[in-house]
Amino acid sequence: MQDIRCGQCHKKLGAGIYHCLDIKCPRCGTMNLLRATSPKPERQGAPVKGVR
Ligand SMILES: [Zn+2]
Repeated sequence: MQDIRCGQCHKKLGAGIYHCLDIKCPRCGTMNLLRATSPKPERQGAPVKGVR
């Protein structure tokens, strides 16, 4: 589970598993567009250290 927090005031809006979520903060009224960040290592032409 992931904490869902307001990007503006950091109020916790909920928790759960999401891919994409639109949620309005009741405290400050900020519209939060949340997308799940997948741990995808980007290695496009980047030099890798220690590999021969
Ligand atoms: Zn807020």
